[in-house]
Amino acid sequence: GGCKKERASSSHVMMEQNSNLKTLQFIPFTSAPKIGFWQALAKKKLEEWQLDEGGKEIEGYYWPGSLADLPPRLELVASSISSSNIERPNGAYYVRGDVYVVNTLDRFKAIEKEAILKKARSVDCPSFVLLVFADMKKQSYVYWFGFPTFALSPPAQLSTSRSLKDELIARDSSIELFLQSIESVFPDNKKYEQPLFAVRITPKVIKVVTLTQVDEPHSEEWLFCCIDPSSQAEPGWPARTLIGFLGLRFALKRATIACCRLDVLQDTQQAFCNGICSQAFTVHMNDDTTSSLLGWEKNAAGRMGPRRIDMAPLTHPAELAASASALNLHLMRWRLMPSLQVDKVSTISCLLLGAGTLGCCVARTLIGWGIRNITFVDNGYVAYSNPARQWLYTVSDCAQNTSKAVAAAKALEQIAPNSTASPSRFTGVQLTIPMPGHSLTENEIKDITRLAQLIESHDHVFVLTDTREARWLPTLLATAAPNQPTVLNVGLGLDTFVVIRHGAKSNLGCYFCNDIVAPADSTKDRTLDQQCTVARPGLAPIASAMAVELAIALLHHPLGHAAPADSEQILSKHTSNDPNRPLGILPHSIRGFLTHFTTVAPATNKFHQCTACSDTVVAHYRQDPIGFVTKVCSDPKILSHITGLDTLADDFDADAFLLDEDDDDLATITSLSS
Ligand SMILES: [Zn+2]
Repeated sequence: GGCKKERASSSHVMMEQNSNLKTLQFIPFTSAPKIGFWQALAKKKLEEWQLDEGGKEIEGYYWPGSLADLPPRLELVASSISSSNIERPNGAYYVRGDVYVVNTLDRFKAIEKEAILKKARSVDCPSFVLLVFADMKKQSYVYWFGFPTFALSPPAQLSTSRSLKDELIARDSSIELFLQSIESVFPDNKKYEQPLFAVRITPKVIKVVTLTQVDEPHSEEWLFCCIDPSSQAEPGWPARTLIGFLGLRFALKRATIACCRLDVLQDTQQAFCNGICSQAFTVHMNDDTTSSLLGWEKNAAGRMGPRRIDMAPLTHPAELAASASALNLHLMRWRLMPSLQVDKVSTISCLLLGAGTLGCCVARTLIGWGIRNITFVDNGYVAYSNPARQWLYTVSDCAQNTSKAVAAAKALEQIAPNSTASPSRFTGVQLTIPMPGHSLTENEIKDITRLAQLIESHDHVFVLTDTREARWLPTLLATAAPNQPTVLNVGLGLDTFVVIRHGAKSNLGCYFCNDIVAPADSTKDRTLDQQCTVARPGLAPIASAMAVELAIALLHHPLGHAAPADSEQILSKHTSNDPNRPLGILPHSIRGFLTHFTTVAPATNKFHQCTACSDTVVAHYRQDPIGFVTKVCSDPKILSHITGLDTLADDFDADAFLLDEDDDDLATITSLSS
């Protein structure tokens, strides 16, 4: 009522109005009620509100912006309904609102929408209204959010914009002083309820007050502030509320408003700010700022109309689990890693060769990343020695003598049940991997084809067997497979581990290449396999997690597993700004030493005489897949023969190794003799 209108008198203002002004646009809030919110609302209506259609106070929250892709969202959760036990996530800012739950769809249509906006609780603070028709029997809700704000007609004009940092420097102040002043005036529990405030910056002192405490509002020393959920060039809805308030209450014609985003509010998060940083806008308001309100949210079709949510399919535990775990991943992207490709990660398919300690740990980590297509291959049965270290088994699996591969797949179904939101496909295949030196039975010969089919139908192959020989055929099959899967070998010693990546498109060495060209590691690896059952219990989870995290990081590089091998040295230069490495460096292999709590990341190239991945071996396999593998299994010496490794060894024996070779190859010859 007491809003005075004043004519602009300052010549300074006149001059600026002649310059190039443009209309200031705002990005509206998007409502984001969680499933739990609707459940809590239904309970409250049933038990307490019943047929009362009057407004009830509830609370939502939003996050300060400046992360690319983070839309300005007003979130509501189960405790938004509660009057006492409101859970407030750390760092989120609070918005109070009113919910009107009407009893019929006709009432929903007929109710005066403008009147509801006018009943909004405050004009000096962002607020919201929510109109709901709850069909409790069908668990279906028709709802419409409104974010009341002044019409600003004609719209506010923008004359200058710059970063908040520059604005504060121009006023002989700084972000540090600015933040200190806010902290000292609004203690932590109050700060998050003050998304709008004003700061008066004089040469001697910074004064922070709520909007209603502003005196001499026309002083140019005022900086009017809002916590801004936008990460774009345009500010979000709170800035609109702020400008409307300044025009109506103080009849200001010109004001500088500060839109505070994550970059200034949380220094520790600064490295992750990929959106537009905190801004200061100098804004010109029109004489005719009216007190009429608008702000009903558009629906999913982009029209001015209500939305509907059907909860029935969402209340099944499997659906709840799926949406909750997906939310965790998306939150990670929104808050910390904007370039994380959550959907790409969750759609990969993984073949786990070995369902022991490593297989169980790899599977659990994959589940954490939202991956729901996992196949286990193992020939064993769950034994009483397994459940303590092999996280997918229980003692009842031992009592029933269940196949490990089948039991592991069943366990995953309990942890991440199939749902419409994220369909899962967990399979257990009982199969013996053919190994050089172990002659094959008729049944095992069939397993060659079966294993080849499995490798060709998965894009990631984790080789987690406990013998070295069992890694040979999977490595060969993956190299020969037309789909060119990413292969990750994981091996354990007592207190050391190795993770190696490999794939047909890459020029990097496979598990066997590496063994031969790196003699020092070769002996280590052989010991690893022999000792794998006596590893320190913490080792398998560490190594498995490293392998999965490497696979996920590789997915973000355009070349995938063919991405060049990064050394640890690149780490010092690496920043999260490298679009190909948003999760960090992409080593070829990781060797870990639990005795020193240390890892190194050596890289080796493909060895042209490798017994598993060389062109010669792949060509022999392609010519006669079953025949070749069967022959190698009964006589592994064939491998040394066709790759020429035996000639190398003979040459060495004949003391005739002074060929025109480089140092690496000499090292190879030496290693073969030892
Ligand atoms: Zn190789």
